[in-house]
Amino acid sequence: MTNSILKYYFFLITFFLVNINVVKAEKYKIHDLDRPKPSIVAVGNFSQNSSAPSDAIILFNGNGLDEWKSTKGKNIKWKSTKDYFEAKKGTGSIITKKTFGDVQLHIEWSTPIKIEGESQGRGNSGVFFMAGAGGWGYEIQVLDSYNNPTYADGQAGAIYGQFPPLFNAAMKPGKWQTYDIIFTRPRFDSDKNLIKPAYATVIHNGVLIQNHKEILGPTSHKIRAPYVMHQDRLPIQLQDHSNPVRFRNIWVRDLEK
Ligand code: MG
Repeated sequence: MTNSILKYYFFLITFFLVNINVVKAEKYKIHDLDRPKPSIVAVGNFSQNSSAPSDAIILFNGNGLDEWKSTKGKNIKWKSTKDYFEAKKGTGSIITKKTFGDVQLHIEWSTPIKIEGESQGRGNSGVFFMAGAGGWGYEIQVLDSYNNPTYADGQAGAIYGQFPPLFNAAMKPGKWQTYDIIFTRPRFDSDKNLIKPAYATVIHNGVLIQNHKEILGPTSHKIRAPYVMHQDRLPIQLQDHSNPVRFRNIWVRDLEK
């Protein structure tokens, strides 16, 4: 008898504590500077230069930007070499010609070895799934997060403006870093209501930094926007945020084909 009463109280206390934590997590304002910064993890070279599985679509392997188009004007003005391509300030973001819903994406990126700027102005780009969805799409932040203080929900691997990465797995500027991302698109019913949100799982340089995390809606600066019904398939976008961030070895597996 005493045992079951104890169990009951244990359950109540646990339930109470868990709920306090949930309320706490929702308390952070967007880009809240008081939000705790993820702890730093030293990383290895996980998935670098990985060769793509046979069913993957190659989005870049040094053979030019044929799979991409500019969001600004006809031709892509980013620099492209046989090893990598590089964002060029003011020329606009680039999007894939093909459209995607649920995907597994591998992408390698490198922020400028010469450190310029700080916080969000240093090595900023981004991988957007479902570009344009709800006005923006869903961004996994790309940023130089090596000794570069910024708000937690804006550092590398953040679901931008919503959730910081679980850890800071950033390498030094100029090093090649990897993201392996599983993105699940949101689902809407025929009345345009959201029936299932989007989710992201992100591995950054071999470290799990987003674990099937529910995305709250389209991501944007200073705005937590609600979901708005959109197509089941939209392009993947890489952001021109005025910093010369480099990319290489990009492949995607279409999980809905
Ligand atoms: Mg960005």
